[in-house]
Amino acid sequence: MRITKISDDINRITADNGGIFTGPGTNTYMVGKKEISVIDPGPDLSNHIDDIIEMSDGKITKIFITHTHQDHSPGAKSLSERLNLPIYGCVTESSQMRDMPIDISYKVEHQSVITSSDHEIMPIHTPGHASNHFCYLYDGYLFTGDHIMQGSTVVIAPPDGNMTEYLDSLELIHDFSVRTILPGHGDPINEPYNEIDATIKHRLKREKKVIEQLKEAHPIDIDSLVPKVYDDVNSFLHPIARFSLEAHLIRLIENNQATFDGQKYSLVE
Ligand SMILES: [Zn+2]
Repeated sequence: MRITKISDDINRITADNGGIFTGPGTNTYMVGKKEISVIDPGPDLSNHIDDIIEMSDGKITKIFITHTHQDHSPGAKSLSERLNLPIYGCVTESSQMRDMPIDISYKVEHQSVITSSDHEIMPIHTPGHASNHFCYLYDGYLFTGDHIMQGSTVVIAPPDGNMTEYLDSLELIHDFSVRTILPGHGDPINEPYNEIDATIKHRLKREKKVIEQLKEAHPIDIDSLVPKVYDDVNSFLHPIARFSLEAHLIRLIENNQATFDGQKYSLVE
């Protein structure tokens, strides 16, 4: 069991599903003392679910999910079935390959606080990585799921993923008082606003590069554009980077900076 004590009333258990998309594995957080809320039970790994139950000492009353991707929500279904617990979250209207079917007991709403006997959790709607993505705020700790990861860049895969929404959802975090980000993958981030601003800057820098490369090579199809825009990224990651490139291109089209003829992209000059 990979347990990390985050604070007096927050523990983390990391699932054994490490990989390209998941870093060291999905983090499951357990919030509260008298009552425990579990955030993102992760993949449906029986060992992991056993660990959560063992750690909780029979005190779990609520399960929260940040979004419905396969490395975050299937464990919620199992845990809910085993302990007869309600699931709080949001299902997506544009379900994709990475989404897993799940029944939500209570649909969370932006800033509508959910109260337990010794803690309150505020959902913050953060579309971008997924349209149904919510972060959860408790006592200055922001549980960010896949909105912000530690150690790697989040994939924005259209059509459910949207780059403009992602940038807006990063900016949105400035409206809240956050002392530490607890990501769905990786370690706590103790300078949240520096991380958020660096992430926005990184995305806009990449967008600038898309514009530069379009200028040089347009009209161009997306597969030819990937190695040009991501020449600083190992080529084995290019199939993943292609998703985010498409999200950048859609954003440029929305902003009237690029056009698409069904095959090739051009820059509006
Ligand atoms: Zn995800």
